Amino acid sequence: MKAKLLSGKLLADRIKEDLKDEIKTLGFPLTIAAIEVGDNPASGLYLKAQRKTAEELGINYRLFKLETKISVEELLKLIGDLNQNNSIQGIIIQAPLPPHIERYKIIAAVNVLKDIEGMHPENLGYLLLGKPRFIPCTAEAVFSLVKSTEINLYGKEVVIVGHSEIVGKPLSLLFLNEFSTVTVCHIGTSSAGHLEVHVKMAEILVVAVGKAGLIKGDWVKEDSVVIDVGINKIEDKIVGDVEFEKASERASFITPVPGGVGPLTTAMLMRNLVRAAKIQKSVSQ
Ligand code: NDP
Repeated sequence: MKAKLLSGKLLADRIKEDLKDEIKTLGFPLTIAAIEVGDNPASGLYLKAQRKTAEELGINYRLFKLETKISVEELLKLIGDLNQNNSIQGIIIQAPLPPHIERYKIIAAVNVLKDIEGMHPENLGYLLLGKPRFIPCTAEAVFSLVKSTEINLYGKEVVIVGHSEIVGKPLSLLFLNEFSTVTVCHIGTSSAGHLEVHVKMAEILVVAVGKAGLIKGDWVKEDSVVIDVGINKIEDKIVGDVEFEKASERASFITPVPGGVGPLTTAMLMRNLVRAAKIQKSVSQ
């Protein structure tokens, strides 16, 4: 294998060590309130990872598990109460929400200073302006992994496959702020038969789709950086969206799945929580 492995776990461990010191300095207990509506096996896994990381850092993790049929009004009432509660510094709205609840309306009701997922329209606006307050965790995890290669991003051809609000869109802004040339691909790109052409151009390739084997190993440009965000369960194995074996013979850096972006995402969430606690403390003084 030619490529060096980019381990999200190593980076996450370093971030968590720093956070432990920062939490001690803060001197008061931190609490996350996570809201889950209905039952979803995929989000269950993510919640478990969040709780585990929180516990490692001595952070309280309170899960509000609500029934699928909860009304928008009831949900907004709960968020209003959590916004007012000074012992809670961070609020998470677990995706997906049932179809009768519009996600952006719920996120917009969260206190902007407690929006540790960085999904509130105001926080996304700050990111657009190049002055981020909270960066969406998965996007920040990907960006940190790329930064850890110490490759100069100025003028680099960055191709992002997947344009979701939590990964592709915020990530495109982070790279733009570094003066990379950013191409964002999606289902339209694939339908037009153009995905291969774009991927072959990528000096930095990020794939966040959720389709195993979507990116063929021989599309990967020689000496590129490949970040595979995808999580797919194939029989009993977890794999990404990129054909790992072939891609790792061509790339200079590549993330493993699992062990790449995943562990770093929850560490970034906790980093946002500590940041939120500091901002809340400074505005209350
Ligand atoms: P979404 O379903 O919200 O987004 C998937 C994106 O992929 C969409 O933009 C979609 O485009 C695009 N897409 C779908 N099919 C194709 C195709 N054939 N060619 C090109 N683009 C396509 O997913 P998420 O962003 O939430 O997650 C993506 C993957 O990343 C999943 O596997 C998820 O499990 C994983 N993930 C991992 C995390 C981690 O911490 N490691 C955290 C979050 C997600 P369109 O909308 O136009 O159809």
